[in-house]
Amino acid sequence: MPELPEVETSRRGIEPHILNQEVTDVIIRQRKLRWPIPSTLKKQLISKTILQVDRRGKYILLLTQAGTVILHLGMSGSLRILDKSVSAEKHDHLDIVFANNKVLRLRDPRRFGSVLWTKTDPLKHKLLINLGPEPLGDEFSAEYLFETSRNRKVAIKTFIMNSQVVVGVGNIYANESLFSAGINPKRAANKISLARYQKLVPAIKSILKKSIEQGGTTLKDFINEDGKPGYFQQTLCVYGRASEPCINCGKPITQITQAQRSTFYCSHCQK
Ligand SMILES: [Zn+2]
Repeated sequence: MPELPEVETSRRGIEPHILNQEVTDVIIRQRKLRWPIPSTLKKQLISKTILQVDRRGKYILLLTQAGTVILHLGMSGSLRILDKSVSAEKHDHLDIVFANNKVLRLRDPRRFGSVLWTKTDPLKHKLLINLGPEPLGDEFSAEYLFETSRNRKVAIKTFIMNSQVVVGVGNIYANESLFSAGINPKRAANKISLARYQKLVPAIKSILKKSIEQGGTTLKDFINEDGKPGYFQQTLCVYGRASEPCINCGKPITQITQAQRSTFYCSHCQK
C-alpha cells in the first residue's frame, strides 16, 4: 500500500511535468474505483491549468482555476508521467493529457484508489476535513500528542496510526518509531509522559523524512515505463523481524496483532 512517503514522492515526481500545464484531454477507461470517477471530470478539467500540486495526508491535490482533483492511490495505485503516445495497458484507468504532450496516468489493479473533483476548498472536503496534522509540520509536536492523548486509553500504536490524530503514520513507521523511542506498543496512550512523547515525535518525523529522502533519490526514474519509485529501503529494526535478535539487547523480537495489524517489538527494550 502506498504510504505517505511514497505519496509525497509521487507528488514530487509528477509536479515538474504538470505544473502550469493546460489539460487538453481526460480519458477515463474505468470509472469504478473506490468511488466512481465523476462523469463531469472531463468537462471540468479540459482547458484548465494545473496551478498547484499539493498533498494532504495520502491525498494528492491537483488545483486548477475551476476546482481541485482529489486523488488517492488506495492499495495498489501508482502515477506515472508518460509521453501521450505510450499506449495504455490493463489497469490504466485514467489519463490526464497535457498541452506538453505528457500524460499523467493512473494505474490501479485493485481499484481501491479514488479520483474526485471539488469546486470548493479541498481541505474542507468530507474526506479531508477530519484529518489530523501533517506529521512533518510544526503542529505535530510532543505537546500536541501529549494533550490529545490524555483521555485516550487506546494502545499507543493504534493511537498514532489514527489519521484523525496524525496522518501518515503507517504500520511500518509506527512499529519502528516506537522501537526507536523505547515505548511498548501496547501501552495506553494516556499513560505516556510528555518526556516520552518528546522521544516519540522526533522518531516519527525522522523515519518519515528518511523515507521521503530515499524516495527522492528515485525521482529521476519516475518517468520510466514501470514508474514505481523504489522508496523505503531503510534498515528495519523490528518490523518483519519476529524471533530475530533485537539489535540493542539480542533478545528475540515479539510479534503480536493489534487492531488487525502486525506489531513487532522488543519486550526488553520497550516499556
Ligand atoms: Zn531489545
